[in-house]
Amino acid sequence: MRRVVVTGGSRGIGLGIAQRLAAASYGVIAVARRESEELTAAIAAAAPGPGAIAFKAFDLGEIDAIPDFVKSLRREFGSIYGLVNNAGIGTEGVLATMHNTQIDALVRINVTSPIVLTKYIVRQMMADGGGRIVNISSIIGSTGYNGLSVYGATKAAALGFTRSLAREVGRLGITVNAIAPGFIDTELTKGLAGEGRDKIANRSALRRLPEIDDVARMVEYLLGDGGRNITGSVQTIDAGNTA
Ligand code: NDP
Repeated sequence: MRRVVVTGGSRGIGLGIAQRLAAASYGVIAVARRESEELTAAIAAAAPGPGAIAFKAFDLGEIDAIPDFVKSLRREFGSIYGLVNNAGIGTEGVLATMHNTQIDALVRINVTSPIVLTKYIVRQMMADGGGRIVNISSIIGSTGYNGLSVYGATKAAALGFTRSLAREVGRLGITVNAIAPGFIDTELTKGLAGEGRDKIANRSALRRLPEIDDVARMVEYLLGDGGRNITGSVQTIDAGNTA
């Protein structure tokens, strides 16, 4: 059974990814600080064996604890085939009035943490002879949006990380790709002020918003045989918002 770590797998996009991968018979390890009711239900719904979902509670902001956390994953689950760096926070704020603690948290959770987690998991993938890494960025990593300058900086970082790491580990049989979703209804976007979601949908080519499962299907594709020659890419899923 191929095991995939999905960070932020307790709700929103990460939960959708965990459910789709479990349905495709991957062994999913969902990581978040708390197990949500939706995740508990998903774990119960997934059959034991291939397609099972396990929950591991971990605060990804605890950077120094990441090496031991990865060791514990290895002990408990064995080799890891895939890593989906999905966990993220979306604090909105005009830069001039943003607290430095908010800036620090955005950079720590959205940039430092997935990079350090990838470092320790990629070492295992190298020893195991290959693997697949998917980083969840955002269209805000390459287009501007009022109030999202720091968030946008973190999501642009994910794109740069993806491209160079793909070159670094490609010869070892490891692919690294990014997905850049547009606005999707989740807990993270609930508080986003400014333009209404209908406005965003109306200015998109397809006149609608992308959905969680669109991202989950792309992750499944990148992890599957179809993704074997795709690396260093950015897959935009925004219903044509940035077309
Ligand atoms: P949600 O807020 O719905 O979910 C975030 C997930 O990350 C939760 O499982 C949360 O669990 C986990 N998480 C947050 N902080 C930590 C932490 N310190 N340690 C461990 N886990 C943590 O967000 P979305 O599903 O909307 O977003 C998922 C990803 O997709 C993010 O990277 C986001 O930037 C990106 N994205 C989202 C878009 C959208 O429109 N929704 C658009 C483009 C990109 P817990 O709180 O229990 O720790």
